[in-house]
Amino acid sequence: MDYKVVRHILAGDSVEYIATAHKDSGFYAEDLPDTLVIHYTALGSLESAVSTLRDPNVKASAHLVIGRDGRIAQLIPFNKIAWHAGQSEWRGRTGMNKYSIGIEIDNAGKLSKSGDIYKTWYGGLIPPEDVYYGPHRNELSPAYWHAYTEKQIICVFEVCQVLRDKYGISTIVGHEEISPGRKIDPGPAFPLDKLRTQLLEDRSTDAPISHPEAPDSILNNGRKRGIVTASSLNFRAAPKYHAEPICAPLARDTTVTILKEEKGWYQVHVSQTGWVKKEYIKIID
Ligand SMILES: [Zn+2]
Repeated sequence: MDYKVVRHILAGDSVEYIATAHKDSGFYAEDLPDTLVIHYTALGSLESAVSTLRDPNVKASAHLVIGRDGRIAQLIPFNKIAWHAGQSEWRGRTGMNKYSIGIEIDNAGKLSKSGDIYKTWYGGLIPPEDVYYGPHRNELSPAYWHAYTEKQIICVFEVCQVLRDKYGISTIVGHEEISPGRKIDPGPAFPLDKLRTQLLEDRSTDAPISHPEAPDSILNNGRKRGIVTASSLNFRAAPKYHAEPICAPLARDTTVTILKEEKGWYQVHVSQTGWVKKEYIKIID
């Protein structure tokens, strides 16, 4: 698919512009937006998402909604602020709407299973072939999620690439990362890390893992310290999502001593020793 941006509107075969009044004036700096925030709609269709985001009673919106068949609705020009992120924080910035383009992907979200039936939160049924099973980055146990379609994922990657080139996007985050504890979209069924690697690989200063891989020996000898950047960070017995938490989650701004690093995890010491996801620790010395 060939997309381009003309006067802050996406152009392409399967793109439709349907305006919503739910927006603020333009970004306050010329180099903004510089961030993409990825969401799922938690609804049943592109149409229902678009009508919700235009409903005068719903104070929410996004720049784009991407359907399961690859159709795209744009609701707000990319140079205006949409209302998608809510209370949010990323790398010292708060209120991420004023820095970002919001992309909603048509997906029902987390599912509940009873027998062989998978149900959405609104009571819809999802066939087993459209179910993804896996752990969320912010949660302990694996769960069932509505799978994204291949067409939709390709479409998101292409659109994000066009936006990166047009606006100099340097950061791509999931809603679940900027509002952890409050939001779980786009969830583990969406290849968010792959999107980041593919689009921002050579711009690693703003990539989610901000510090270069330090060899274990340096971390061990230097005893670096870091602070927790998530509102609540699981503290586990081993460097795995499935590992048991060893005590209550660590609160934001807790200072930890980093003992070693292993595949995206840090072994840290607070009052005991355990493992935390590396991307939620900011090195302070
Ligand atoms: Zn969201």
